Amino acid sequence: MELPFGLKRLFVVALTMCCFGCSADKAVVIEDSGDRRIVRLDVASANIYIVEENGKRLMIDAGNPGDEDRYEALMRESGIDPATIDFAILTHGHIDHAGTAAFFQDRYGIQIIGGAGDQSMIEAAGDVDLCPTSVVAELLHMTLKGKQYPAFELDRGISAAEGIVDLAEFGMTGKVIPHSGHTPGSMVITIGSHAFVGDLIRGGVLRPEVPTTHFFMCDLEENRRRISEIIALHEIRYWHPGHFGPFPSSAVAQYLAQQLDK
Ligand SMILES: [Zn+2]
Repeated sequence: MELPFGLKRLFVVALTMCCFGCSADKAVVIEDSGDRRIVRLDVASANIYIVEENGKRLMIDAGNPGDEDRYEALMRESGIDPATIDFAILTHGHIDHAGTAAFFQDRYGIQIIGGAGDQSMIEAAGDVDLCPTSVVAELLHMTLKGKQYPAFELDRGISAAEGIVDLAEFGMTGKVIPHSGHTPGSMVITIGSHAFVGDLIRGGVLRPEVPTTHFFMCDLEENRRRISEIIALHEIRYWHPGHFGPFPSSAVAQYLAQQLDK
């Protein structure tokens, strides 16, 4: 039986909301090579990554406000005492990536690093215009309107003019690449063969390992240009988005080719 279009849309929206709100919290080890350990902490489909290397602990992104205790629980379950995390790099200043930063900064003294281009967004506690890219995104947008996170100050702001920052500054290996493909202050973090890309791209709601256009993107052309820049980094084999994922670089290249064909 063919469902009417309105019912289909309602089903997709309900499923999407459920995937964001009802999925079980989980910690997944991405790499454990002896020299380096990387764990993904997934709470309500907002990923935080913890990278351990050279006796340092780095957190990438900070999830939604209100989920602090859930992330803390996953950290402890993974053998990570939050008090031992040295610093956090935010891929950008949206609420689902910077939402718990104030908490971790205040409670554990974690240094927060972010894009200087998102400083005004952070001072406004994440209150910005979003550009929905689909019908589902428009409905998601309605649920996000007016939501804010506790404001905080960046301990280190990285400007686009500064160019690529070597993680050696923080005692680790890898790079922070200012990358305005999603917000003015967006950044991609590359460590070994991994790229942590925030909302440059996301995984599918039903097929997490399939690269998909993010729900909110104000300049799709710029987004695609920026994605191609990361694909060109041949040392990168795995992409780790803020939502769902991960996927191999080859899958992203395939996604991009399809988008450019449209
Ligand atoms: Zn975002």
